[in-house]
Amino acid sequence: MLQQTRVETVIPYWHRFLEHFPDVASLADASQEDVYSAWTGLGYYSRARNLQTAARQIMDEHDGALPKTVDELRRLQGIGPYTAGAVASIAFDRPAAIVDGNVVRVLSRLRGLREDVGQKAIMDRLWSWSESLVSAGRRAGDFNQAMMELGATVCLPRAPLCLSCPLRNHCDAERSGDAESLPIKASRKKPKVVSAVAVWIERRGKVLVVQRPETGLMANLWELPGGEIDVKKPQEADTRAAVRAATGLAIGQLERAGQVTHLFTHRKLTLHVHVARRIEGRVHLGDLQAFRWLAPHALADLPQAGPMRKALALLGRGPEESPRARMRTGQAQMQAKK
Ligand code: SF4
Repeated sequence: MLQQTRVETVIPYWHRFLEHFPDVASLADASQEDVYSAWTGLGYYSRARNLQTAARQIMDEHDGALPKTVDELRRLQGIGPYTAGAVASIAFDRPAAIVDGNVVRVLSRLRGLREDVGQKAIMDRLWSWSESLVSAGRRAGDFNQAMMELGATVCLPRAPLCLSCPLRNHCDAERSGDAESLPIKASRKKPKVVSAVAVWIERRGKVLVVQRPETGLMANLWELPGGEIDVKKPQEADTRAAVRAATGLAIGQLERAGQVTHLFTHRKLTLHVHVARRIEGRVHLGDLQAFRWLAPHALADLPQAGPMRKALALLGRGPEESPRARMRTGQAQMQAKK
């Protein structure tokens, strides 16, 4: 839960999740929809999927007990080297290394590593340094936490507090005076820019929502019908074509509500949001899994990804619906009409 999310934000979700799934067995037995519901609001649903797959692996392959070694932990879905090292060293006192962003910074400066840490070979070197450090002593968990804490509080990215650092006399970068320029990170590839449309389609007080395919980005999550389009600024015809391809419905009059943006790891999505005033036909799904007609207040309970939440907020229909949200919607609609 804490990946890319702040502790203060996570705490209420953590309690709610544990109320639903108090142990590994209950998480393994739950339906994916229930797991998604308990996860709603945290985003990045692949984490919830991985967590449940890992719970099933723990039940099937480890008699319900979390394994203790890095190798076994790494075989669980969604557990990478960092999490495996953290669990093995902090929970089970195994001599396992952790290399997070803070440790990368501390080690690069201590050892005077002046090569791009974005390269795999360089990261491998940092891991092997960290492993040699934890296996040279005891209390690997405490050591790992101390290294991370040193990076978070003393060996800061800008203006490191070298004068109060306990490692000062062993630090290459402090001697060379270039601590602030380390670690070296070559600029990352820019995310791919993509556009999509989403349409609020309401019939007899119910709104149409569709479930995305089982695999791929935002798998299994629910959203307003629409889809990706090739053009940056969609015309009404593009939006109609996208909805028709996704649902088989023909849309009459369309009203633009505005647009929202969402950054995924490798993609920057601009979602153009519309309201359909008239539709014709019956729903025939293309690649999507399912559809539902729901009362607007029920949308908040659906497992949904960040772009859908933002689209609903723009429409003044999100869980955070408030006079401010309504004002934003009004402003967006006014801007769209200009
Ligand atoms: S001496 Fe300065 S650069 Fe070196 S580890 Fe300590 S805080 Fe970081």
